[in-house]
Amino acid sequence: MPAKQVVLATRNAHKVTELSRILAATGVEMSLVGLDAYPQMPEVAETGLTFADNALLKARAVAAFTGLPAVADDSGLCVDALHGMPGIFSARWSGAHGDDKANLDLLLAQLSDVSERGAQFVCVAALAVPPLTRPATEGASAQRREWTVTGVLSGSLTRERRGTGGFGYDPVFVPAGASVTTAELSPEGKDAISHRGRALRALAPVIATHAR
Ligand code: IMP
Repeated sequence: MPAKQVVLATRNAHKVTELSRILAATGVEMSLVGLDAYPQMPEVAETGLTFADNALLKARAVAAFTGLPAVADDSGLCVDALHGMPGIFSARWSGAHGDDKANLDLLLAQLSDVSERGAQFVCVAALAVPPLTRPATEGASAQRREWTVTGVLSGSLTRERRGTGGFGYDPVFVPAGASVTTAELSPEGKDAISHRGRALRALAPVIATHAR
């Protein structure tokens, strides 16, 4: 039987690699494609107010466009002293979307006088399955088609950047019980404990059950 096809709802090549590596390590057989395979797919605006809203917006839109099960994630850094911000605004905290250096510079400046350094990386992974074109059984269209799972990595923030791996806020994030930042971990070492790793490993059996 051919492997089940699943679309990863992102154009970010780094994310396709990371999500594919995490899902491959679960041993669940599936064929993963990124949105590069769908150049006509319009950009999905992340207008939600929660990680789950945004992950579902992306997964739903991609499942509807491609007709295939779609997996999306939305993630960010929630800082205790900032009452959970940057949160869903992590990628655009300094204004420009995806400017990791400016985002991290701003965060460190905001926290320069703050001794409370607790923070969590949070990820919501979502699966959306398109409707069957011909319901196999009576009432199949009413079957559940959306799932979300949350993964959290708790830790604290350093004052100086350390490490060259990862991206975003990794150079200043030390997981609870660790002495190195997530930028000092190997990709596999980070996957094993990361918010994205936890969320996707929890979602993998659901994907395996509902992909077709
Ligand atoms: P998105 O999930 O692609 O919307 O990205 C969310 C933003 O949160 C990223 O641009 C980073 O700033 C931050 N972020 C999410 N996960 C991580 C991580 O594992 N390390 C460092 N920063 C992260």
